[in-house]
Amino acid sequence: MLDWSEPNSQKPTIMPPAALPADTDGHAAGLGAISRGAGRVSVDEKAMINCRADVNQLLPLKYRWAWEKYLAGCNNHWMPTEVSMQADIALWKSRDGLTEDERRSIKRNLGFFAASESLVANNIVLAIYRHLTNPECRQYLLRQAFEEAVHTHTFQYIVESLGLDEGELFNMYREVPSITDKAAWALKHTQHLDDPDFKTGTLETDQAFLRDLIAFYVCFEGMWFYTGFAQILSLGRRNKMVGIAEQYQYILRDESIHLNFGIDVINQIKAENPHLWTRAFQDEVRQMLTDAASLEAAYGRDTMPRGFLGLNAALCEQYMHFIANRRCAQLGLGPVFAETENPFPWMSEAMDLKKEKNFFETRVIEYQNGGALNWE
Ligand code: FE
Ligand code: MN
Repeated sequence: MLDWSEPNSQKPTIMPPAALPADTDGHAAGLGAISRGAGRVSVDEKAMINCRADVNQLLPLKYRWAWEKYLAGCNNHWMPTEVSMQADIALWKSRDGLTEDERRSIKRNLGFFAASESLVANNIVLAIYRHLTNPECRQYLLRQAFEEAVHTHTFQYIVESLGLDEGELFNMYREVPSITDKAAWALKHTQHLDDPDFKTGTLETDQAFLRDLIAFYVCFEGMWFYTGFAQILSLGRRNKMVGIAEQYQYILRDESIHLNFGIDVINQIKAENPHLWTRAFQDEVRQMLTDAASLEAAYGRDTMPRGFLGLNAALCEQYMHFIANRRCAQLGLGPVFAETENPFPWMSEAMDLKKEKNFFETRVIEYQNGGALNWE
């Protein structure tokens, strides 16, 4: 069983890409005219961004870490409908099983994730895929995009099971200011890269691409999602909304691979293009993580104005500082906040798949042994 919860499981390959001219005719996207009889791609010609080598040739692999994450994602396959919602339905419909504060926090949490899965999926498909010019990374992006669809499906399934107001939930990212602020902060990066005139290949645009990767993989999936997981898993630990908590554990397992893939991508681009990682740019990245943490703190105060058993806005803020410093270390940057203890040490248990034998491993083994499907 692979465990992606720790910083960089594998050091990115450091190999300078062949010097190649900027893309002018769709080669980087893989949509240029097919060049008949052109030479076969060698490993040295492959590069993360601005690559002129054919992106339609997966082999030979250059970035084994990307391929391994693709395989790990496939081995973790799950569907939300496999999780029973009976206990959650009974608790949600009961009069006094949940406090008003707990209900508010659960609904806002679901509302935040419901739209966020879609924002992340859009960013992969409309912004990252086009500009990441490596087939093994694209193979992982395709898997990730499907996982984001499964996550969106999870929120549809929860809304349907609990009989929640779908309009209220799926519109929270437009109607609840603390959620809108986070969504808008990230969305501007997708919008920038989705512009048909946007092309990587200059200092400015390559840095813009890195900014998008940092906003989504590090801040969105790697910071904001983690306080969201902590909220629901904390309820699950107290035997409340156990079906949703189980689904969140599956999502967390997927997201920890997304995060680590993103970190590897960013570090590999840095290694191949050290001129992009200027002192000023590093300061900017540290500022992005600081801003993301304050947006999350505001969301915490909004979703848990009074707090409830084992969880409150101050602890969530402390957790965010702890996580932000960890993300900095993963990117090779100094910490942005004063050193702090992890207020939710049980989160690393939830992330440590090896310890969740009955929960994770049996399921994964079942899938791995599932073998061929019979389509007849
Ligand atoms: Fe997701
Ligand atoms: Mn994700």
